Amino acid sequence: MQVISAVCKSVTVAPEKIAVTTGDEFFSFAELLRSAQSVSHLLEDKYKHHDHSAAEEVRSDLIGARIGIIARPCAEFVAAVWGSWLNGYVVVPLALNFPEAELLHVITDAQISAILTTPDSVGAVANLVGNSSAELYLLPPVESARGRDEFESPNVGVDELVADVRSRISAVADDAAALIIYTSGTTGRPKGVVHTHAGLGAQVRMISEAWDCTAEDRFLHCLPLHHVHGLINALLTPLYVGATIDLMPKFSTSGVWQRWRHCYPIDGPSAESPITLFTGVPTMYVRLLQGYAAMDAEARKASAHAAKQLRVMLCASSALPEPVMDEWESLTGHRLVERYGMTEFGMGLSNPLHGEKKPGFVGMPLPGIEIRIDDSESDVRGVGELLFKSPSMFREYWRQPQVTHDSFTEDGFFKTGDTVTMKDGYIKILGRSSIDILMVGGFKLSALEIEAVLLDHPAIAECAVFGLPDEEYGEIVCAVVVPPAADVTDSAVDPKPRLSLKLLQTWALERIAAYKVPKKLVIWERMPRNAMGKVNKKEIRKSVLGSPP
Ligand code: ATP
Ligand code: MG
Repeated sequence: MQVISAVCKSVTVAPEKIAVTTGDEFFSFAELLRSAQSVSHLLEDKYKHHDHSAAEEVRSDLIGARIGIIARPCAEFVAAVWGSWLNGYVVVPLALNFPEAELLHVITDAQISAILTTPDSVGAVANLVGNSSAELYLLPPVESARGRDEFESPNVGVDELVADVRSRISAVADDAAALIIYTSGTTGRPKGVVHTHAGLGAQVRMISEAWDCTAEDRFLHCLPLHHVHGLINALLTPLYVGATIDLMPKFSTSGVWQRWRHCYPIDGPSAESPITLFTGVPTMYVRLLQGYAAMDAEARKASAHAAKQLRVMLCASSALPEPVMDEWESLTGHRLVERYGMTEFGMGLSNPLHGEKKPGFVGMPLPGIEIRIDDSESDVRGVGELLFKSPSMFREYWRQPQVTHDSFTEDGFFKTGDTVTMKDGYIKILGRSSIDILMVGGFKLSALEIEAVLLDHPAIAECAVFGLPDEEYGEIVCAVVVPPAADVTDSAVDPKPRLSLKLLQTWALERIAAYKVPKKLVIWERMPRNAMGKVNKKEIRKSVLGSPP
């Protein structure tokens, strides 16, 4: 259990070091670990209560029990993860804002027996849990350190705490399951992805090396915790290296800009241990740019100054549009480090921290990862499905042995389902083999490439390109686009649309081959996205097909 071992080390070296802050409250590594110990007792009591045997026996009997955690990002969430692990249980992070039916599906599918939550979320989940066979438990509050960067109370009992934690984790095998995370459900029903402690250890090690993370870092975290990006990259990795996490329970552009400005005031010295690292999804950067544009001149100056001081800014989870990358760089001086990952193995490819960051490319494999492009079924050499082998690879899809088996090649490579190509060692994602690769009149094309071009059109702020069935061509290109916010509000004043299929086609013909030009255009006011900013094209396609022409 490498994450917890590393935490024990941090607690031994500097128990008062702040592990998590929410801006107003500060939680030390020692207090978090102590709370984890309380959670572990709480869960142990649950099972003791059920079968009246000694705690030790119960623990070994129930290794592998699934524990759901549903709460906004907070210190108690961290304690809940660690506490479950101390008993050998498997954590299933649940999303607070998911529709009840989807959550019930996950609770039932993962056979969750206990759900941990916080007092401020209990109202939202009590009903849901009542409809399942899981029992609801309230997490004990983590005690907040009093000082800003120093935890003032004496570190009484730290040695005993660490000894107890070490003895508990020694009872859990490295290849035991640690987490079940559900995929985004872009290509089908979300699948439960089982990660082992060894796999997680490999992930956090690879990420911390790729980003040069140390205990001196401070991460600003505003991602949901039920996906690998928010949970593993941005939460477990900093805790593993002994860094501090600035938790923002919900992303807000003004909140992010304000925290950066607070760390790096324009007219004074930087705060003690200021934020050094930020990782987000493309939509967050788009919103941050919009937030910046809405500021007055003084706030802009202070905001740009602050953002420039961070050590690194990263982006993942879906394709980063080139105009966003360029605008962000000219504002903050940061060329975003774009990378690629999946629930199944975490972060796998990344543009280099110190080398060239190529727009439109997701970089190269992290050390220890092997990749291959399978172009055996492709008519273009070098274009094909990305195959992956990594020490961070998941163990299985929960209760889906056949799907697990079919997802690997005979020589043990995982089939990502993403079509890619490579240039100068950098991988370019052309899209999901099943959704983004279209066959138009016998020609294959990448929806992502067309989207990148359409985003250059001044009347398009967001777009999703996919195929629609067509008798003559097999498929035709359909583009659902969202105009910039200003165009939507101005339309009352200027009813003349800036975009029509004809106008778009004329414009596109100058930039892409005729067969790639959209044959159908749908204009929406808003692009539906999930918590990670991902567009579900299957759903969009369904609603376009279902709407009148
Ligand atoms: P499901 O497996 O249920 O269909 P999903 O694949 O969307 O859902 P995730 O594991 O959250 O679930 O997402 C992984 C996918 O996200 C990758 O397969 C890839 O298609 C896409 N992706 C991740 N990073 C990038 C990126 N930088 N650029 C383009 N696509 C990306
Ligand atoms: Mg997937």
